[in-house]
Amino acid sequence: MMHNLTVWRGCGRISVVLTPRQTEPSSPLLLPYSVCNKSILPWSPRSSQIRALIPRLLQMVYYLLSIAADLDNLTDLQPRGGCDDPTYPYYFKVKCEGCGETSLKESCVMISEQVPLPTGKGVAHLVQKCKLCGREGNVQMITGHGQPLTLQQSQREEYCKLMIFDSRGFEPTDFSFADGWKAQSIAGTSFDVDLSTGEFAEYDDKGKHPVGIVNVRAKFSIVRRKDRQGRKDSFI
Ligand SMILES: [Zn+2]
Repeated sequence: MMHNLTVWRGCGRISVVLTPRQTEPSSPLLLPYSVCNKSILPWSPRSSQIRALIPRLLQMVYYLLSIAADLDNLTDLQPRGGCDDPTYPYYFKVKCEGCGETSLKESCVMISEQVPLPTGKGVAHLVQKCKLCGREGNVQMITGHGQPLTLQQSQREEYCKLMIFDSRGFEPTDFSFADGWKAQSIAGTSFDVDLSTGEFAEYDDKGKHPVGIVNVRAKFSIVRRKDRQGRKDSFI
């Protein structure tokens, strides 16, 4: 019997449903992949064929968190322990891929804290259930891709990469800056920076000038893992 393989995108992920033709879709089988457009293909339901098809249709997606800010006489803004600071708390909301509901409360993740997955296989930095529909999702952080925000980038109003999230079942959104940052003045003085109010102002005695940070911004964008065959992962 011919079947329809229905693939659609929601919040950076896709659902796949295999049904006999001319019937309503059953519960979707969730897969950690994304496609650009909805596609419905006639397909016979043999799992080996489906497995062969999906990589061609779909590409796994990740969420890149980038930040920007207006730096005054400061450079190299980054978490206090560096871009992969194990204890920097990342606060953000999550949008459910099942029902589209955005959580009211922010979630918090940090590199050093992991919890077991409900399946018992492996760990994640966040496991959470949607309050509205009950769907469970999880988030893994992928380190090694962040860079400090420099004064030059700030002057060009550019964003710099901070962290990559492998988020399943949820789309991360509404990042909030917390305490736990550092930056260096152009005279070389190090400052501990608290961005929980979105601003920072101090005076650099060594350089004899004020230093400050205003207009902090953050965004999540969808990136894909570039296949580099065994070498260090890169994301585009
Ligand atoms: Zn939901």
